[in-house]
Amino acid sequence: MSNDKLSLFNTLTGSVEPVRTIEDGKLRFYSCGPTVYSYAHIGNFRSFLTADLIVRTARALGWEVDYVTNVTDVGHLTDDDLADASGEDRMAKALKSDEGRRFANVYDLARYYTEVLLDDWHSLNLIEPTVRPRATEHIRQQIEAVEHLVEQGIAYETEKGVYFDISRFPDYGKLSGNRDAENLEQAVRDVVQDEEKRNARDFALWKKDPGHLMQWYSPWGWGFPGWHIECSVMSMEYLGEQIDIHAGGEDLIFPHHECEIAQSESISRKTFANHWVHTRFLQVEGEKMSKSKGNFFTVRDLIATPDEGGRGVDPMALRLALISGQYRKPYNFTFETLKASMKHVERLRSAFETARGGLDAADGPDRVGDRLADLRSSMLAAMLDDLNTPSAIAAAIEGAKLIQGLGENLNASSARSALDFLQSASSLLGIPYHDQEAEDPSASASHDPLETRVEELLRQRATARESKDFERADQIREELDEMGIEVMDGPGGSSWRRKTEI
Ligand SMILES: [Zn+2]
Repeated sequence: MSNDKLSLFNTLTGSVEPVRTIEDGKLRFYSCGPTVYSYAHIGNFRSFLTADLIVRTARALGWEVDYVTNVTDVGHLTDDDLADASGEDRMAKALKSDEGRRFANVYDLARYYTEVLLDDWHSLNLIEPTVRPRATEHIRQQIEAVEHLVEQGIAYETEKGVYFDISRFPDYGKLSGNRDAENLEQAVRDVVQDEEKRNARDFALWKKDPGHLMQWYSPWGWGFPGWHIECSVMSMEYLGEQIDIHAGGEDLIFPHHECEIAQSESISRKTFANHWVHTRFLQVEGEKMSKSKGNFFTVRDLIATPDEGGRGVDPMALRLALISGQYRKPYNFTFETLKASMKHVERLRSAFETARGGLDAADGPDRVGDRLADLRSSMLAAMLDDLNTPSAIAAAIEGAKLIQGLGENLNASSARSALDFLQSASSLLGIPYHDQEAEDPSASASHDPLETRVEELLRQRATARESKDFERADQIREELDEMGIEVMDGPGGSSWRRKTEI
């Protein structure tokens, strides 16, 4: 395969294909985030890690990345797997559970689990998205989208809500292959449904429910949006009508992503996402993860100290373990894998210390530069080949061994090559060599969405300036100016500050 093409399995076509971005060198990427009604488990994080690796690999190619991942804090019902929007709202149900009793209301519960999510996100060194929109902050846009679909005759209202009429979207089923109407109808017949629905497969865009814990006023009275519409709307709001990649866990293929396609393409009349990437579920010790089996793990169950009720696993060992199997292969999480990953992380850290120590040594011929350059190429090639993480990790470890074995050949130029290599491995796999907590006390500050956005814009501006696209660079500067950000260019790069009001 070509050296500079990112190829990923596309669920839409059933084959591994190069990602051809709509705009050259720029990736528009949406990845479905969690419903914040409980702690996200390691299977959820495996899917967030796939998104993280896509961003890292795209950046390694020099692409600009607009990366959006959402937080679902309303509308995801217990029976939504059947596209029928029945059952109870997961947020409301959680509030009534034993764990939920400590929250005063469903908004407090959402806030708490969102904060936990961001902590775990940071612990596993996941890249902050350009924007992390929340469903409850985009209700107006969701209502407008539903209104538009009603006006077009694609959606209709009943006593209980507003539904998408799938007979108006012949492509329904193109992603999941779920075109078998009879099967689907049988599945949804088994759950409570709205008698007035034209077709059992029609899915809810808006649920009328004046008794719901979270409700908003709409042209159809008090109620709340269906689960699927939020991602269509937020993707469009932040990335435009068409995007390059849309990702999520394999459980989202149907109905969530199928419904997103129907909504988005009915609104824009354009292809919504060109590439659909799905991460396989994980098993734990060969079994399906479930609370009743006692093999259900959240990130904090594993990384918290034993004092705090956790198992004291190094977060980077957990990260490496979770990416040690390729995202679309069945993955079995075991404590053996965790142990092996811990050894790998220790090896990488020790190679880093060796290399750093060598910088002060006398200069001499570079003994490892060529071999490390080859390994770096194989590492990137592996990631470009449908995120082949096992091969990429193997190349990183081989490089680390080479560096550890330098012995008396450790001179300043070998050390520089070694550090270069380790830096590439770190940014591609997301394993830093220092103690994150110690080095980054302000880490929580990076959760500030303004700061994240500013940093991304500055990165894009630097790329634009490098490629002498001064028009784009000026546009970005103006955009920052409108956000109340002053950019200062200096010899060491650009810095920024919030303009003070006079
Ligand atoms: Zn989604």
